[in-house]
Amino acid sequence: MGYGVYSQRFGGLGVTPLRFKNLAMLVKWWAKVNSNKPCLWKSIVTSSFGSSFGRDLMQSDSPLHVSQISPIWRDLNRLQHNPSLLPIVGTNVWKWKFCEGELGFTRHLSLFNSIKASELGLLLATIQLNLLREDILLWSAAPDGVYSVSDAVRMLVHSNSVNPPTWSKVVWGNNVPSKVMLFHWLAIRQSIPVYDVLIKRHILPSSHSNLCVWCLEEVETVNHFLLHCKWTFKVWSDLFSWWKLVWVIPGSIEDFSFDWFYGMGIKASKFWKLIGPATFWAMWLARNDFIFNRKFMCRSVLVRNIKLKTFLWATNLKLCNGSQFYVWENNPSLLCF
Ligand SMILES: [Zn+2]
Repeated sequence: MGYGVYSQRFGGLGVTPLRFKNLAMLVKWWAKVNSNKPCLWKSIVTSSFGSSFGRDLMQSDSPLHVSQISPIWRDLNRLQHNPSLLPIVGTNVWKWKFCEGELGFTRHLSLFNSIKASELGLLLATIQLNLLREDILLWSAAPDGVYSVSDAVRMLVHSNSVNPPTWSKVVWGNNVPSKVMLFHWLAIRQSIPVYDVLIKRHILPSSHSNLCVWCLEEVETVNHFLLHCKWTFKVWSDLFSWWKLVWVIPGSIEDFSFDWFYGMGIKASKFWKLIGPATFWAMWLARNDFIFNRKFMCRSVLVRNIKLKTFLWATNLKLCNGSQFYVWENNPSLLCF
């Protein structure tokens, strides 16, 4: 008759046989001795027979002789030789936990495995176990070993991308308002909703005019609107004249942006990193005001607005102070010294 007969699951009454209960309670004595929890029983046993008594008792080649132990322990010792109790007292059922780690084997080891287990034991012998310290799982990607979602995402992005574009630092490392920064990014990616982009995306019908609203001569692409248009060129020329700089029209927004960071000297770059995106943004607002509100902003007003806005940003960044607007407006390169 198997165990299942007593189980309701297997059609039994669900009444536990007292024999099994008795044996299981006997094993509990042994378990208590080997438990880390302090108890009176353990204190008595270990003080009488030593701290390793319980473990020695359960070894198949126990150094303890039957004559040396009490009848109770003798019965306990016999438990491990009871094949019906292997599920609860077999050597493979109990595993030692070292500092929250486990070392145990769920099957009988072959000679090869025994050798490997011995090698493992030698390796573990070099480790100083401390029951007061818990074993922890370290994540090698982080210096402190602690898993971080943000670090993981960064690693995933990095591992799945080619070399970062040169403009990424130009755009995202800038101290301009977020919406201006985002607009700059859209400009570099040729994604500002100018007519050419809107028509190509089928947001506007192909029959819609794609001509630039300023010159009415060229297709309004992003580069044309922000760099190459006659009207835009004059805006940029005014700004470069303001800084007493000679410039050549760059081929793309990306190249243009790169110059603000690396082609104007360290001090001037700090200001031009603000002036460039501010000009893009101001031109975009002026364009939309003209299209949707039929308000035309003359170039001199636009340039002055750009100067005023960038001065405020530069002041907030402590690149200059609020009393220097006259210098800023008339000879800003003096602020670079
Ligand atoms: Zn144009």
